[in-house]
Amino acid sequence: MIFELKGKTAVITGAAKGIGRAIAIALAKKGCNIVLNYRSAVKDELVKEIEDLGVKCVAVKADVSNFEEAENIIKTAKAETGSVDILVNNAGITRDGLLMRMSEKDFDDVINTNLKGAFNMVRHASSVMLKQKSGTIINISSVVGLIGNAGQANYASSKAGVIGLTKSAARELASRGITVNAVAPGFITTDMTDVLTEEQHKRMLENIPLKKAGSPEDVAEAVVFLAENRYITGQVLNVDGGMVMS
Ligand code: NAD
Repeated sequence: MIFELKGKTAVITGAAKGIGRAIAIALAKKGCNIVLNYRSAVKDELVKEIEDLGVKCVAVKADVSNFEEAENIIKTAKAETGSVDILVNNAGITRDGLLMRMSEKDFDDVINTNLKGAFNMVRHASSVMLKQKSGTIINISSVVGLIGNAGQANYASSKAGVIGLTKSAARELASRGITVNAVAPGFITTDMTDVLTEEQHKRMLENIPLKKAGSPEDVAEAVVFLAENRYITGQVLNVDGGMVMS
């Protein structure tokens, strides 16, 4: 059965650009009021584009790795729209480097944003969802959290951690009608992958059975699917052109 999203509130972290932006637009097209979190700047055009879809759009500046700032995103969502029905933990960073050369800071920064940031948001959103006795949480992980990647020990650890967080939260929150899932993108064209050299790009495509990179919209469609289905929980949905098959 498709769960009706019209009029629900969706909170999306790191939504100023890339995959987060596409998720915000896709959920707005389904009639959700959107609470956009951004870290440094959000373009007024994006807020307008979402409002033009006939829904409310609230932009909240916050660093998700900070417990209090994360709480403020949820408090603002509740105050401005009355509920928190969908949380998409999308904010993420990379600080790539081989293990032997990786600094403690680069490890900590990635874990703090990608994993602790997701925990902070789940922690605050779930207290609202528990009272509502409904809600869904979708965490953006990565296929490298499943298979690892040379040069990304920090990032792969954070994304594997996000899967553990997803499954634990799914078990804890299920009795209150709250579902928790992860989406694991493969190689998606955004600023995050723009830094790859042509050679790295070519090598990535060799490992993708569908022989092309995905778009932010491909990931957004998977998020909408999970938001509309309330009998799937604790799962990881790969959006990767077949890169990882389990
Ligand atoms: P992106 O760099 O375009 O977007 C990431 C967003 O997160 C940015 O808007 C950034 O400002 C925000 N952000 C970073 N740190 C933050 C913080 N502390 N607080 C709040 N916001 C913060 O990258 P993207 O490709 O759109 O990535 C989105 C998500 O998808 C990330 O979690 C990323 O790890 C994941 N992912 C991307 C790919 C890919 O191929 N692009 C693959 C797998 C997973």
